[in-house]
Amino acid sequence: MKKVEMNVYRERLVALRSRMRGDVNQMAEAALKKTRSEANGDLSSMPIHMADIGSDNFEQEFTLSLMESEEGTLELIEHALERVEAGTFGDCEECGVKIPKTRLNVLPYTPTCVKCAELLEKRF
Ligand SMILES: [Zn+2]
Repeated sequence: MKKVEMNVYRERLVALRSRMRGDVNQMAEAALKKTRSEANGDLSSMPIHMADIGSDNFEQEFTLSLMESEEGTLELIEHALERVEAGTFGDCEECGVKIPKTRLNVLPYTPTCVKCAELLEKRF
């Protein structure tokens, strides 16, 4: 993924993390940054935007199960930010394929592609 594109996701991840932590100052800051990135981006302002994606049930369940555990989600967000720094963001951690942007737009903190997420889910 291009650096410019990664930066957009990084800002969304940071904004999402701030919101989950309930940090008002960081939120305000993130909102300002977001306004700028939205001016030249096609990403929606909502980190979770179910209406837009026409997702299958699996994707919705996956999202909901992640949202059930805020702590787990925060960990995923931190991890995703590390991958932005490492330049590997957007690659599936299991099989290495590029995670489709349609998926990243819904779950910017997901570490895997849909296929691998399904396989991991079955293991539990
Ligand atoms: Zn994969």
